[in-house]
Amino acid sequence: MDENDKNDELKPDDLGQVAKNFIGAMKNWQAAGRPVVTKQVWNERLSICRSCDWWQEIAKTKIARCRKCGCSTAKLLLATSKCPLNPPKWDVVSNKS
Ligand code: SF4
Repeated sequence: MDENDKNDELKPDDLGQVAKNFIGAMKNWQAAGRPVVTKQVWNERLSICRSCDWWQEIAKTKIARCRKCGCSTAKLLLATSKCPLNPPKWDVVSNKS
């Protein structure tokens, strides 16, 4: 992650943006019929995130999230979700599981 990327990192006072990202993701998911990914896809997404500089896991609280969009591991379960990077490191899956 370079210095320009750090300017895109969500800060604690960006909760409004995190909420907006979350609501947008949930609206898309709801509109698509609430599809979730297979366990295999979830594990693949988690593995990609865990190797990404934007991922943060706090062992003490067992909280994990993407510092780019603010979403937690729950986002990885939604078939309609995708990584916020351009190009995304993982993308929407079209078939229901
Ligand atoms: S969602 Fe994308 S940017 Fe965020 S941690 Fe995962 S791979 Fe990185």
